[in-house]
Amino acid sequence: MSRGPQLVPGDTIGVVGAGQLGRMLALAAARLGLRTHVFAPESGPAFDVCAERTIAGYEDASALAAFAAKCAVVTYEFENIPAASAEVLAAAAPVRPGPRALAVSQDRLTEKRFLQSLGIRTAPFYQVDDARSLAQAQTELGSPAILKTRRFGYDGKGQATIREGDDPAAVLHGIGDRPAILEGRVPFSREISVVAARGLSGEFAAFDICENEHDNHILARTRAPARIGAAAARRSVEIARTIGDALDYVGVLTVELFVVEEPGEGETIESLLVNEIAPRVHNSGHWTIDAALTSQFEQHVRAICGWPLGSTGRLGEVEMRNILGSDAQNWRELLHEPGACLHLYGKREARAGRKMGHVTRVKPAG
Ligand code: AMP
Repeated sequence: MSRGPQLVPGDTIGVVGAGQLGRMLALAAARLGLRTHVFAPESGPAFDVCAERTIAGYEDASALAAFAAKCAVVTYEFENIPAASAEVLAAAAPVRPGPRALAVSQDRLTEKRFLQSLGIRTAPFYQVDDARSLAQAQTELGSPAILKTRRFGYDGKGQATIREGDDPAAVLHGIGDRPAILEGRVPFSREISVVAARGLSGEFAAFDICENEHDNHILARTRAPARIGAAAARRSVEIARTIGDALDYVGVLTVELFVVEEPGEGETIESLLVNEIAPRVHNSGHWTIDAALTSQFEQHVRAICGWPLGSTGRLGEVEMRNILGSDAQNWRELLHEPGACLHLYGKREARAGRKMGHVTRVKPAG
């Protein structure tokens, strides 16, 4: 039922994945008169707010094909969809962003090489296939360094720090003896992200750069604007645009970067290294729901529908905090707090570290 590049209100967007990102995408789509069909192996936060649901595995080709055939466009809320599944979807409906964005961002080694090919800096890295190559990489990079599985890592999962004197075989075993990369540790002063969108005909719009703080590898707090200079902010956006153009990307794209302060001639220079690319809406863009003229979710919907991108204007100084695990019990207090914008994802079980919701506080400009 794919109907060419542009959708009209009443059409159905297919979303692969039923987490909170899918939920917020479905809510944004509904506001624009669009229906959402969510595909996931099990029920999740997005199922409460969509028009149709398919419960099937991400490798179930016939279920994927039947799902895509009912959608005018298919998108996804996480990047670990098998490449073969993306092909099945693409045979039945436009998939946006396209399979190349998935392939690049699913594998940290491919991603780093892709960035290098564009002349974009990253942390120094080496391919690690076994304990011997890990030992060699450690000699090159020094200690401590960070070992990361090439695939299926998120929120610090599949990562380990290797220090002087550690047994490489044991550290590799700790991440499941999987193909990996070893990264030099970057002495960053800040972590920032660019949440940007590229439309069907190549138009591009970035939200203001935001600054991220992590606790135990999980995003804890985002503030916008980031406390970086104008030149670094401009270059961050250029980097995101270069990546978007190279992938012929359609949708919202997030680029996470490290800011490293390096001495220049009479001044400190803010150098930028890309940490990773997320081919989707992102936790660090949640502030846009309450504090930008267009939310990242609406922007993604606009882009994948072939519609004009919305204005990315920011309404004030903003801080977003994730609500993790049992902190979700404080929902009443947050409701009482004037100006606190509370978002809860409808998850019943509050496991430690689980993202249960977020709260955004905006200090209006002027
Ligand atoms: P990642 O899963 O690659 O996004 O890593 C999660 C977090 O670990 C990052 O947001 C950083 O805080 C930290 N981290 C990852 N890689 C490095 C690195 N090469 N140098 C310093 N810190 C890192």
